[in-house]
Amino acid sequence: MTKHHEPSSISELINRQGFRRWHEYELARAFGYLGLGVLALVAGLTIMESTFGLPNWPERWFKAFLSFFCLTGAAWAWLRFVKILITAETLSRQSVCQACHRYGQIRVMEDSVDPTSGEHQMICQCKKCQHSWPVTYTVQSRNGRL
Ligand SMILES: [Zn+2]
Repeated sequence: MTKHHEPSSISELINRQGFRRWHEYELARAFGYLGLGVLALVAGLTIMESTFGLPNWPERWFKAFLSFFCLTGAAWAWLRFVKILITAETLSRQSVCQACHRYGQIRVMEDSVDPTSGEHQMICQCKKCQHSWPVTYTVQSRNGRL
């Protein structure tokens, strides 16, 4: 485990805005990507369907490419949705204080990452009763937003 400091990491975002607000924001973002993914999927399939009826090749290739582009975008958006949701829920499950059972009243005291596994370990402290415990998660990008 090595200690390191990233600008706007998840721990900083949690300490700055509070766990509940951070969590709400992450859920909103995740479902934004889900919506985007659905739109891209519908667009991709619609364009693909219209491709087959076209008589001339250049237009057909162009539409096939456009359709592929939309479907790739849909897959990307879906992956973002899953990653954001998993991270938010992983942290949510671990943010209940074992001593006083309050949810999301945490302050991150320490944030370290294992460079080989990419696993983060945060030491969180309950704002109400000062009880502290380790919280772990693995998926994260450099800026703390996936
Ligand atoms: Zn507590």
